[in-house]
Amino acid sequence: MSETTRYQHFIGGEHVAPTSGEYFPSINPATRNVLYEAARGGADDIDRAVRSARATFEDPAWRDLSQTKRGHLLRRLGDLIGENAEELARMESSDNGKLLREMRGQLAGLPEYYLYYAGLADKIHGSVIPTSDRSVLNYTKREPLGVVGAITPWNSPLTLTTSKLAPALSVGNTVVIKPSEYTSATVLRLAELVLEAGFPPGAVNVVTGFGAEAGQALADHRDIAKISFTGSTATGARIAANTASRFIGSTLELGGKSPNIVFEDANVANAAMGVVAGIFAAAGQTCIAGSRVFAHRSVYDELLERVTERARTIKIGDPLDEATELGPLAFEDQRDKVAGYVDLGRSEGAKVLTGGNATDAGLGGFFYEPTVLVDVDNDMRVVREEIFGPVAAIMPFETEEEVVRLANDTEYGLAAGVWTSNLSRAHRVADRLEAGTIWINTYRAMSPMSPRQGFKNSGVGVEHGTETIKEYTRLKSVWVNTSEDPVADPFVLRS
Ligand code: NAD
Repeated sequence: MSETTRYQHFIGGEHVAPTSGEYFPSINPATRNVLYEAARGGADDIDRAVRSARATFEDPAWRDLSQTKRGHLLRRLGDLIGENAEELARMESSDNGKLLREMRGQLAGLPEYYLYYAGLADKIHGSVIPTSDRSVLNYTKREPLGVVGAITPWNSPLTLTTSKLAPALSVGNTVVIKPSEYTSATVLRLAELVLEAGFPPGAVNVVTGFGAEAGQALADHRDIAKISFTGSTATGARIAANTASRFIGSTLELGGKSPNIVFEDANVANAAMGVVAGIFAAAGQTCIAGSRVFAHRSVYDELLERVTERARTIKIGDPLDEATELGPLAFEDQRDKVAGYVDLGRSEGAKVLTGGNATDAGLGGFFYEPTVLVDVDNDMRVVREEIFGPVAAIMPFETEEEVVRLANDTEYGLAAGVWTSNLSRAHRVADRLEAGTIWINTYRAMSPMSPRQGFKNSGVGVEHGTETIKEYTRLKSVWVNTSEDPVADPFVLRS
């Protein structure tokens, strides 16, 4: 990709120049090279995209399309993503710095999401309600909402966009996407594939740009029926307040500070790899990062040794290199934020057992060493706040009661890991943890079939599985009087 590549918005099936005429650079975080420039969107561009999406939503060609045919389109889109997976994985890896093999893995799984919602498309229906009056037929229908605004982050752009796009389209909505300003390219390419799959122009539109400009304009637009947002808790709170004041819904997938708990009866070697997977995979830039590790006192030393040993040998480098295990942070401010948190931890009294330094890995990029902090407790900011980098805080505990209390002592509730060979304990602790996803003897597993929901400040609403369909439909109840009898007392409530 040349330095001068310029991406336009994608609106109504066409590449559209920004009203402002302005573009902004996207930087490869491994090298600091400019990868491309993207259109800087604002309220006018958003308005154009929403109008296009609304027109398509109302067009009989889309509105009256059978659910089975929507499924065919989604299946075709999944196939196209599969055919273009390598190009998309490379683009995404260069844009956000995640390992090529991680992005290849995500891309390999992505068609399954479209396939899942393709299969579901013609199995979504209402029900008949047996009200007390035999002469009344009361039935429910699930209807699409209209234009859905999707606002997404940079850490897994296509995967997180797909979590919204596939179910939203499967039930007949149209969509305007505002991808992260750090990763515009693959979402724009996805919109081209949507058109190629046979969806009508305007079914999926992409306006690139900054959060305070294009993002805010999308969240504020009067013709949006819903906002589906993935990103930080701070931005999510603003969107929640905004959408609530207009009585439209929002699905919010937000931050996390997830506990990863290792009990004394765990397979400690596996648990140590689970800890590594939880916090060092993707350089810790995942909402589900297992950033708070609790190890039972009797296995604490062994776990620490295993995790630290592996952390020290993690190969930092070019994310496109197959041998690399840790790529850069996605942009300079993110690297500085991570470095700032580790310095804060030091000043709070934490000991850096390994890592704790920024590096350019000889490539000029924004890397940070895998870092293990000890001598930490739940009151420190490094343990309470989301760092979104490769920084694990590891703490000992004595009892199950204590660790459940410590694990739940957080404003977040996205995910949790439990490592134990005791079946009763596994289920008991899963029951008591305040988090939407619990992994037992595994970590960082995801499927389109399995719903996920953030508890507490980690979000509102469900993504994936059949449950997410409710987020993209509204329920209508239709009452039909089948009787020709004269109307009885018109002044009383009927049933
Ligand atoms: P962010 O909130 O800064 O940005 C997310 C998106 O919102 C971007 O597209 C951004 O441009 C836009 N945005 C920013 N300000 C806005 C505003 N005022 N109005 C409308 N849109 C606005 O988050 P980020 O730094 O891109 O992503 C990292 C965060 O995302 C982390 O907190 C992480 O935990 C979270 N995340 C959550 C999940 C999940 O499923 N729960 C998944 C991935 C990431």
